[in-house]
This record gives sequence, C-alpha cells and structure tokens, in this order.
Amino acid sequence: MQNKTAWIEKEIANLKAQGLYKHVRTLESPSGPEIVVDGKKVLNFCSNNYLGFTNNPILKKAAIKAIEKYGVGTGAVRTIAGTMVLHLELEKKLAEFKKVEDVIVFQSGLMANIAVIPALMGEGDVIFSDELNHASIIDGCRLSKATVVRYPHNNLVELEKLVKENSKVAKKLIVTDGVFSMDGDISNLPGIVKIATKYDCLTMVDDAHGEGVLGKSGRGIVDHYHLHGQFDIEVGTLSKAFGVVGGFVAGKKIIVDWLRQKARPFLFSTSLSPADIASCIAAVDILKKSDALVKKMWANAEYFKNRMKKLGFDVGHSVTPIVPVMLMDEKLAVEFSRKLFEKGIFAVALCYPTVPMGKARIRVMISAAHTRKHLDQALLAFSEVKKGL
Ligand SMILES: *Cc1c(COP(=O)(O)O)cnc(C)c1O
Repeated sequence: MQNKTAWIEKEIANLKAQGLYKHVRTLESPSGPEIVVDGKKVLNFCSNNYLGFTNNPILKKAAIKAIEKYGVGTGAVRTIAGTMVLHLELEKKLAEFKKVEDVIVFQSGLMANIAVIPALMGEGDVIFSDELNHASIIDGCRLSKATVVRYPHNNLVELEKLVKENSKVAKKLIVTDGVFSMDGDISNLPGIVKIATKYDCLTMVDDAHGEGVLGKSGRGIVDHYHLHGQFDIEVGTLSKAFGVVGGFVAGKKIIVDWLRQKARPFLFSTSLSPADIASCIAAVDILKKSDALVKKMWANAEYFKNRMKKLGFDVGHSVTPIVPVMLMDEKLAVEFSRKLFEKGIFAVALCYPTVPMGKARIRVMISAAHTRKHLDQALLAFSEVKKGL
C-alpha cells in the first residue's frame, strides 16, 4: 500500500529543518494586557486588541443578553433564514459610524475580501494590488480569475504607469491595505484616488488595522484622509480593534446591494452568531459616544515609541500603534523574543518569509488596555535584554 501522506511528512520535516515550523502558543486566560500563555503569566504585546475590547465588560454583557434573547446560533445562511434584526442593526450602525451609504457584515475580514473581490471582478478584468497586501486580498484576487498586476509597495509612480498600460481594459480595480501590519505604515489613499479618477478604476482599501485606530474615534483610514465618498470600497474587520470577530464591506449602496446578491460567503456560509453581533454593536456604540479609548491607545503608542528610541532601538517608520523593533538578523530576533518571554514580555519575532530576509524584527502591538506600568515593564525588559546581548 502506498503511503498517501508521506509527502506531508517530508514537507513538515523540511519546514522544521528551515526553522519555519510554527509552534502555536496556547492562551489560558482572556486575551488582554495580562495573559497566561503556555502556563506562564506574561504581559501581552502580540494581539490586535487595540482598544481592549476583547474582554470589555460592556461588550460581554451585550453578548450574554443577546444569547439569552436570541440563542447561540443563527441556524442558516443570511439569505435563507440567518439574518436577524441584530445583523441589520449592526450594519446600520456601522454605516452611520463610517459615514457611508451601506454596510454588509461577513464572518471575518478574510471572508469579506473573498466576498467582495470575486463579486466585482472577473476574467478579463485587471486588479492592481500593492505587493505587500494581506493574504486574504491575494486569495480574493485569485478567486476572481481577474488578471492581477502587483505594484511596488506604495509606489504610485509605478502604479500609474501600470494602470496607464492597461487603460483600455474596461473594468479595473486598485486594491490596497490601509495599514501595512508588518511596518505600521499606511497607504497613500489620496494619491490612489487621483489615479483612479484619471483612469476610471474602482478603488478598495482593506482597513483591518485602521478600523477603530485611525480617523476620528477610529472611523478608519478614509476618515483619516477625509476622503468620504471618494473611495468605492472599505473592508474592515471586527476582530482587531473591535475585539470580537467578523468583517464588513462599507461603501455605496449599489455595491453593497450587489454583494447581497452575489457574495459567496453571504450566500453559502452561516452568519455571525447573536453574541458576536451584539458585542460588535456595543463596541460601535462606545466609539460613537467617546474617543477616550482611541486617544489612550495613541498616547500609549507615542510614549512607547519615544522611550524605545531613547533606549537606542530602531522602531522603523510606523505611523500607527504597531511598533516594529528592527533587529534585522533572524536569529537575533528569535533569541531576543525568547529572552523577553523569560522576563514576562510576550512579543513575537517576525522573520523571513513573513518579512524580507535581513529585516527581522520584534513586533510590539500597543493597546489602550496597557497601563503605563505595563509599558514601563516592557521598556525595562527590552533594555535589559539589549544589555545582556
Ligand atoms: C487581519 C487582517 C485580515 C483578516 O481579518 P480577520 O477578521 O481576522 O479575518 C484581513 N486583512 C488585513 C489587512 C488584516 O490585517
């Protein structure tokens, strides 16, 4: 008998030999600034919980109330019997918050990208995609069967050249991450709007790391640039700053209407549960009322970045609460992260192939939930590990 999985064993051995086999750590506590990982109590600088919503008592209460009223599941896909009043309420509230005509909610940010790109683009169409775009954009593009033209990261001179070369193609889309999560830099949306207007392209931004972070009260990157109504599609996630799970597409009513007809995750996968939706509604309500948490997160990020610079670290060119501590060397980054963990600081090393070879770093994610004491403990650990090298 042939061993049908022998090739997997070989591939896994390969990954291990290259140091690319992932060890997945296990959380034994809620995700917050102080967590228990693999049995050890540490300070968490790894999650995308920018506003501390993952364990927020108001969100938790909303989820519990929703479970009591609506149960734990929706029982069907949205188009058959899975759309609850809660889904519509969240979509309405998000649309108001984002100042767009309409919003459609999906099961995750990844699902939103897989939903929207193939619904709008097909064979013979051309998609211009930033070379550093998120994997879920890449997958959405592949599923669409459109021709994908990658442009150098944030290089709009090159982008315009490529768009011009394809100007005869009727249907064109420019797609970009809003915030690039490895470096914390942001996309030049005003420049993209100019090119898109000149050459008649649809525009789409995946603002997963910008929702709840950028713009007034966390309204996102389009709000940050005051481009309301000028960007066709905004994709967001409800799993990062919003602290729960889910994704959405925000934009013109006609596009969102089309997605309700054509988006495959809407048609063929069961909708988000009542608890998820209700806690997201509570998160939007909090942000509508007050920008205090968003401001606290930014103050924390500034404090941490400035102190790290004073300690002699290279923190890259981030303009967001993502702090890439550039160590360059792969082995050094892994060793540094391990020593931080020993000192009770959980911050991952990102190495090739996640980032380019020779650009290894420790990525520190700052949250409004961190106290000054947490940040000072991390700063102390960073300086101690550096001295001990
Ligand atoms: C995290 C992320 C996603 C995926 O969002 P989920 O809600 O976790 O599926 C999509 N796009 C970008 C740019 C992201 O950073």
